[in-house]
Amino acid sequence: MLRQLAEAMRSELATLIPDSTAREPVDNLLVRALDQPAGTATEALHDALSSHPATRDWMRRTTGVTKETDAAISPLGAALAPNPLYICPEGDYSVVRETVASDVLLCPNDGSILERA
Ligand SMILES: [Zn+2]
Repeated sequence: MLRQLAEAMRSELATLIPDSTAREPVDNLLVRALDQPAGTATEALHDALSSHPATRDWMRRTTGVTKETDAAISPLGAALAPNPLYICPEGDYSVVRETVASDVLLCPNDGSILERA
């Protein structure tokens, strides 16, 4: 995956970094990273891919496509709903959960069952 990204980036590098003085070190990093055997290349590839503001921007754009797709296919409610808030009916305790709790939440002060706000 990183190797394919690095190869794709190299083919666009002249456009990404028009200034050849700035481009050369990035290109060198990419070539050296691509030269390494698959098992050890990951860190070098990652360094090369994020070695310049333009390449980091490219990475965001290129890998961002995947994230947008993920968000688009996740259930609408899960993506939009804020973290649920649970409140003690006695009003002395409240807690925010990452997800809707499937278990019963109890107030640590008086043991009341917390109600979802
Ligand atoms: Zn309470």
